[in-house]
Amino acid sequence: MTDGQGNHYGFQLPDELILLRDQVRRFMREEVKPIEDGLPHDATVCAPEDRARLRAIAEEMGLTRLTVPEEYGGNPVSALARTIIAEESAKCRLGGYNPALGAFGGGAPNIIWRGTPAQIEKYGIPCVQGRKRAFVAITEPTGGSDPRNNITTRAEKRGDVWVLNGRKMWITAAKGADYGIVFARTSDGGDGVPPQHTAFIVEPDFPGIEFHEIEVIRALSPYEIVLDNCEVPAENVLGEVGHGFGVAQTWLVDGRIPYAAGCIGIAQEALDMACGWVKQRPTRGGMLADRQAIQWMIADSEVELRAARMLVYDAANKVDAGQPGKVDASICKLYGTETAGRVVDRAIQMFGGMGVAKEMPLERWYRELRVKRIGEGPSEVHRMVIARDKLRNTDGGMYFG
Ligand SMILES: Cc1cc2nc3c(=O)[nH]c(=O)nc-3n(C[C@H](O)[C@H](O)[C@H](O)COP(=O)(O)OP(=O)(O)OC[C@H]3O[C@@H](n4cnc5c(N)ncnc54)[C@H](O)[C@@H]3O)c2cc1C
Repeated sequence: MTDGQGNHYGFQLPDELILLRDQVRRFMREEVKPIEDGLPHDATVCAPEDRARLRAIAEEMGLTRLTVPEEYGGNPVSALARTIIAEESAKCRLGGYNPALGAFGGGAPNIIWRGTPAQIEKYGIPCVQGRKRAFVAITEPTGGSDPRNNITTRAEKRGDVWVLNGRKMWITAAKGADYGIVFARTSDGGDGVPPQHTAFIVEPDFPGIEFHEIEVIRALSPYEIVLDNCEVPAENVLGEVGHGFGVAQTWLVDGRIPYAAGCIGIAQEALDMACGWVKQRPTRGGMLADRQAIQWMIADSEVELRAARMLVYDAANKVDAGQPGKVDASICKLYGTETAGRVVDRAIQMFGGMGVAKEMPLERWYRELRVKRIGEGPSEVHRMVIARDKLRNTDGGMYFG
């Protein structure tokens, strides 16, 4: 555990991960923050030359291509290492978009590595090299919480192409991407067999695809994607026909632990900022830091952050030990995002008016973190996953079993 000053409590990280954490922390302070200071408040990217420079430094430090298999030029590291990197690299105004500063990401969603050699060559490798960018389109207007039943975009095989019809909603950074992985229904199932879905690699200049921006609370817009007889070559099926959903699940579950870690990193930075502020802000009869009302906000935030971090590190350890991580990932996603929202909210309260001023990162983090309780599955769906698992595996205990 760290208190933001580098001190550890509770969970003892191995020495090499402490070193890694300190390296990322230095990189953020010395390289990323000065660039970010010159960007508009709601920026989500920096100038291409700055991006290239940051990427080169990050490459040198071994912080890129972390989920890419070695044979494709990747630098795969343990889930715990990815968690530490996500936590530290989110401690900046761009928060969740760093890795998206372009410094860290391989760019291709992990599932592309399940593709054919030709798909990996054409779509995966250029992402690793920072030359291409991809989106992932699962959610539809019919509802994203239950994609297995709610994906109604259809794909029909006609000759040597698949024809896609339907709409996708809320797709992050879809416009301007070089390709997307789009999930569509290829069979309705029936007689107890669930609907089946297939993943397709879709390029923006395929015929029959349109993008419409949706402005939301956060800085980076998602898009509606309209597929109107969009023709996708048969060789662009990713994985097996009918098995798209399993592919999507693996990818989503893999990402949830670092996702939660990033939220914790942002919230830790917010809490540390608030501590600095209350120690120097006078009120009649003492500093803000002397007030019990303020101390309780700090105490609650510190306790909740330590608990959230412990959950995240523990889940990452389990993944590294080869244990199934789905429920742990849901626990991390739920508790990490909700804790971070509460902590940043309290930090804003401690700063008062300054807390909502655009010259501070807090109001931006507040908006960004609000989305985190919805994206990658809303909190309620993760609660459902956790509760079902608990009910399935618990017999009533010592007195009711
Ligand atoms: C900014 C942003 C970016 C996104 N980026 C992407 C992306 O890149 N790719 C992608 O595919 N999707 C993306 N999404 C979609 C996101 O995953 C969905 O918004 C999310 O899964 C919820 O789906 P929904 O919005 O359709 O809400 P619905 O499924 O309609 O649910 C609405 C609300 O109902 C409640 N609810 C739902 N089911 C249950 C239940 N079983 N029990 C109790 N309560 C329930 C929850 O509170 C939920 O928030 C993004 C969303 C946002 C807001």
